[in-house]
Amino acid sequence: MIKLRDYQSNIINNVRALMYHGNKSILVQSPCGSGKTLLTAHMLKTASSRGKRSFFIVHRRELIKQSLDAFSLLGLKPGIISSGWFEIKNSPIQIASIQTLSRRLNRYKVPDLVVWDEVHHVGAKTWGKVYEHFSGAYHIGLTATPCRLDGTGLDKWFSKMVSGPSVQWLIDNGFLSKYKIFAPGKIDTSSVHSRMGDYITSELLAIVDRPTITGDAIKHYKKLCPGKRAIVFCVSIEHSKHVVEQFNASGIPAEHIDGETEKYQRDAAIKRFADGKTTILSNVDLVGEGFDLPAIEVGILLRPTQSLGMYIQQSGRALRPYPGKECAFILDHAGNCQRHGLPCDDREWTLKGSTGKNKQTESSVKIKTCPRCYAVQFSGREVCSYCGYEFDKSPRKVDYEEGNLVEVDLQKARRIRLTEQGKAESFEALVALGRKRGYKRPFLWAKHVLNARKAREAYAKQN
Ligand SMILES: [Zn+2]
Repeated sequence: MIKLRDYQSNIINNVRALMYHGNKSILVQSPCGSGKTLLTAHMLKTASSRGKRSFFIVHRRELIKQSLDAFSLLGLKPGIISSGWFEIKNSPIQIASIQTLSRRLNRYKVPDLVVWDEVHHVGAKTWGKVYEHFSGAYHIGLTATPCRLDGTGLDKWFSKMVSGPSVQWLIDNGFLSKYKIFAPGKIDTSSVHSRMGDYITSELLAIVDRPTITGDAIKHYKKLCPGKRAIVFCVSIEHSKHVVEQFNASGIPAEHIDGETEKYQRDAAIKRFADGKTTILSNVDLVGEGFDLPAIEVGILLRPTQSLGMYIQQSGRALRPYPGKECAFILDHAGNCQRHGLPCDDREWTLKGSTGKNKQTESSVKIKTCPRCYAVQFSGREVCSYCGYEFDKSPRKVDYEEGNLVEVDLQKARRIRLTEQGKAESFEALVALGRKRGYKRPFLWAKHVLNARKAREAYAKQN
């Protein structure tokens, strides 16, 4: 029997408490990789032990097998509703693919409980139809990103929300992998029009599907994380195939998979990838959601998107812990982190979608990209934490002082401060300087400065 983690038990307890108070539709927001399927298996097991019937609804065929594996860990033998599987109608627990279920709706009695995987799709026609049909049941929706592509929320279907831990908390506690994110180059999407909340695919394709852009992606992959298993997110199948050709031509074994790929071929491709025979697996959005492949070490983003949800789902793919994976890499060539912030940013979700705080504009995103090594980090840093590069602040900044707008020549002041800092060679000297400057945590600051120096030296040696 697999034990739940404390935060998973908390989620279940909160859901139960809400149900106890008469709420029939509850949304659970928790990051990719926080173990929502296992949590579901526990809930359904409890329900069935009380004589209740329940459905777990997933949106892709390949998630059936994945869910079945998780349910089996708890000794459950659910029925499967999906083409190619025998029906076991009397099983109190059913795992259903939404497409198959929507065609066979009249064959099943309304269950007591329905759990929806990746529920931000609920507005889609098929999902809506099933939801209506099962309106008498209790509903629990699972998602990392409770907003639809157009940014609207899920409050039409769910009345309460339970939130799981943040991505950063999961990283800090070892449940997700640490990561480095780089944003080399940037695809200019200023001429691309939008439809239904995201860029128009055909226009994106004209800009993104180019040998120079793919070449740039290959160059940086080779430099930053050569040989590591990488998943590439493309704009279209055609684009993905071009990317694969170019990787192969540069001697890096790559394969393409999509929803049309025959199941046995796809499984074989995924196995070659997991075994390290293929290092690059390219796709459009097949691996984007709920698709659990912890062997992924690198996410290469080649699809510019205005959807925060898509960005979080794609960048989250590389963050599953895996033996030998010390640190994941995200190589964002699509400018998505500039659009949406870091994958581990604390975001506030509500049933109405993402709050105003999440809807960042490029200027409100609090990150900056190092012009030397392309590492992306919080904009508060003075020195790149990867390569030690000293960021230049804009020479003239308007500062607010005693009710007057005062222009300060920050660059000059900064130069003086850095010279002073450079003279403080030892840890003790730095701590003394930090104290003199009135820093709140002089020891921590001194440590940061020394780390940046070390990084700078290491980088200089490498190059
Ligand atoms: Zn740097």
